[in-house]
Amino acid sequence: MSGYELDCVFCHIATGDHPAEILYQDDQVIAFKDINPQAPWHILIIPREHMDSLNDAAAQDEAVLGHMLRIASKVANQVGIAEEGYRVVINTGPRAGQSVFHLHLHLLGGRPLRWPPG
Ligand code: 5GP
Ligand code: ZN
Repeated sequence: MSGYELDCVFCHIATGDHPAEILYQDDQVIAFKDINPQAPWHILIIPREHMDSLNDAAAQDEAVLGHMLRIASKVANQVGIAEEGYRVVINTGPRAGQSVFHLHLHLLGGRPLRWPPG
C-alpha cells in the first residue's frame, strides 16, 4: 500500500499538518525527533509515501529504502554521533512492538546501546 492515509499521524507529519521537530527532509523522506525518546538522540526517518510496514515493501520501494539508510547516516553525522556510533532499527509487526503503521526507521544514539535489544 502506498500514497497517503487520512488516519496516519506520520502522513500528517509528512504533509506538515502535524507538528514535528524536523531535522532533515527532501522529496522522498523526512527525519524528525521521536516524541518519546529512548536515547539522547532518537530520530525517526520515514518515507513521504505511506507504507504500513517493511512487510509492504515491494521491488519498486528499494530505492526509497536505500535512501532511508543513507539519510540515517547523514543525519547521524549532522547531529554529531556518526563517529561514536548509533543504531538503526525498523520494528515490524506485533512481536517487535510496532505501534505506528507507517514505515519508519529509528536512529538511536548518544549513549551506549546494549546488545541484544530487549
Ligand atoms: P514503533 O513502536 O512503531 O516502532 O515506533 C513508533 C514511534 O513513533 C515511537 O517511538 C513513538 O514515540 C513515536 N511517535 C508516535 N507518535 C508520534 C508523533 O506524533 N510524533 C513523533 N515525533 N513521534 C511519534
Ligand atoms: Zn502514513
